[in-house]
Amino acid sequence: MALIPLERMKEIIDFPAAAETLLEKSEKEIKFSLNLKMSKDEIICFDAFVVYHNVVMGPAKGGVRFSLNASMDETRNLAEIMTYKNALMGLPFGGGKSGIKFNPYNVDDFTRIAIIKEYVHMIREELASGAYIPAPDMGSTPQDMATIYGETHKAESVTGKPVIIGGLPGRLQATGCGVSHAVKLGVENILKKSLNETEITVQGFGNVGRWTAYFLRQMGAKITAVSDIGGAVYNKNGLDVVKLLDYCPTSRDSVKGFPGAEPLTRAEFLSVESDVFVPAALERVITAETAPKIKTKMVVEGANDPTTEEGEKYLLKNGTRLLPDFFANSGGVIASYIEWRNAKSGNQTSEKEVFEMINGKIEETFFAGLKAKKDLKCASLREAFSSLALNALIEAMRARLWI
Ligand code: NAD
Repeated sequence: MALIPLERMKEIIDFPAAAETLLEKSEKEIKFSLNLKMSKDEIICFDAFVVYHNVVMGPAKGGVRFSLNASMDETRNLAEIMTYKNALMGLPFGGGKSGIKFNPYNVDDFTRIAIIKEYVHMIREELASGAYIPAPDMGSTPQDMATIYGETHKAESVTGKPVIIGGLPGRLQATGCGVSHAVKLGVENILKKSLNETEITVQGFGNVGRWTAYFLRQMGAKITAVSDIGGAVYNKNGLDVVKLLDYCPTSRDSVKGFPGAEPLTRAEFLSVESDVFVPAALERVITAETAPKIKTKMVVEGANDPTTEEGEKYLLKNGTRLLPDFFANSGGVIASYIEWRNAKSGNQTSEKEVFEMINGKIEETFFAGLKAKKDLKCASLREAFSSLALNALIEAMRARLWI
């Protein structure tokens, strides 16, 4: 998606040209190389990227992605989503992101730790000053955040750490908790159904997908199909999500071969009929090409940027509702905010309080979005949430005399 439809926003809110200029490009982009001497004759080099999209609200906050697809374009895109996500949720953070281009699944622990230490070394000023605060994203884990903390020695310099070293109870499940609550609100208030009579398919069974499926099942929904990079499984009576979690305990394990379910190809998975489809894996999976195959009443974006502009146009034209990423998957950064705040103040927060805070913020923003959609005659909820986030950013820019 063109993330936030800035052109359209000019028609529906008071959007000063100066604010548009500031939001059209990133404030800071850093590209560097992580070079490791592995032996007498071998050196390996990995490209790395850090982007601050806009920091009018506060320090740049956003995860560090470990992926062979990491690039400046991808990091810029993801940092931009963070600007709007943080503004929409009223968090005192700007939009940031970083990425390291490597396959996190085929390096040993020694190399992985060396890569992360070199990353910290190369951006030590950004991290030590608190200007950029990383967290886990695709491919990175709480243990990796522990390695970052081990280098900075500042608890507030990184979030998503293991609980035992100052991480937040519930941070691991936080994004899925928020996505599942967004699904619940959408099902009850837009589809006008109850979760008990709702069939849901989830793409991706990593951090976001697995906990989204888990919470939705706990709330009574039927999870009929799940896919990951290794394959897909289907059960028309609903998958046993707890057994599926046991079957593939980490993001690296696959749902493929799960007993008590039929195997599907990834293409067949996309065509499974459902009430709600949650893409929770990759970018740009709902495109002009794939959208006609997706037979669902509502899409709730667990992943960042899973829908292209053309894909979303097709869905909306065919009556499929969509809850956008920067609203639906904000549970992770809300929890990160609590962890960061606790690291500064010494406060502690229970898992129950964390989930309550996430669900409370998601709920409040959901109804504000529905109201904005009606008041501003928005064509989609993406437009409605965009108007709320943009208004907050414009107000902050005025407060700081940036515009
Ligand atoms: P992860 O690495 O834990 O899991 C990724 C999952 O996607 C795995 O199950 C993998 O097998 C699957 N996958 C990869 N390629 C696939 C394909 N072609 N088809 C189907 N499945 C495929 O990553 P994650 O942390 O769960 O992140 C997933 C998405 O959610 C990303 O877009 C990320 O930016 C976004 N997100 C993550 C968080 C967070 O707190 N982790 C917060 C907000 C948004």
